[in-house]
Amino acid sequence: DERLRRVRDRVRPFPDFPEPGVLFRDISPLLKDPVAFRTLIDLLEDHLRSSFPKIDFIAGLDSRGFLIGPPLAQRLGIGFVPVRKKGKLPGPTESVCYTLEYGKAELEMQKDAVEPGQKVVIVDDLLATGGTMAAACELLKRLKAEILECLVVIELKGLKGSGKLNSIPFYSLLQYD
Ligand code: IMP
Repeated sequence: DERLRRVRDRVRPFPDFPEPGVLFRDISPLLKDPVAFRTLIDLLEDHLRSSFPKIDFIAGLDSRGFLIGPPLAQRLGIGFVPVRKKGKLPGPTESVCYTLEYGKAELEMQKDAVEPGQKVVIVDDLLATGGTMAAACELLKRLKAEILECLVVIELKGLKGSGKLNSIPFYSLLQYD
């Protein structure tokens, strides 16, 4: 698909970032190129429109999910809710701890972000080990949302992160080994 190639061409690999042995996939060139970025949002919009008759919210993960989620939500004519790193959101929050490769992290949502039963698609730029996305799913389950799908631009297949999401539907636009 020509559109998919246009997007893939704007993902830049960086060896040894943020540490030796890691090949970092950088979406900065994609954000910088308005045609490629519009194409990305077109493809994600097409996918969601053909998959789900009704979505209430796009939930985006801190921080690159905040770059992709809001334009996508606007296209669909629906709202966006942020899933943030610990300590950034005012008011009553729900939080989930999860383990990173080195150490721990915590994600938070405002308790009134979604109503029980509302249909949510969770969006991020990239799935690696799946730990971050799994924590976001746990958070949305605690708020009693119905998670329709976890959606990422890039999936690092070799890490088998989608296995961490159990039975929750998962979709990636681009896959790398
Ligand atoms: P996971 O929890 O191991 O799946 O890591 C996914 C999170 O780390 C996402 O929020 C990504 O933005 C970030 N991340 C991990 N590896 C990369 C990468 O190669 N490029 C961009 N972001 C990455």
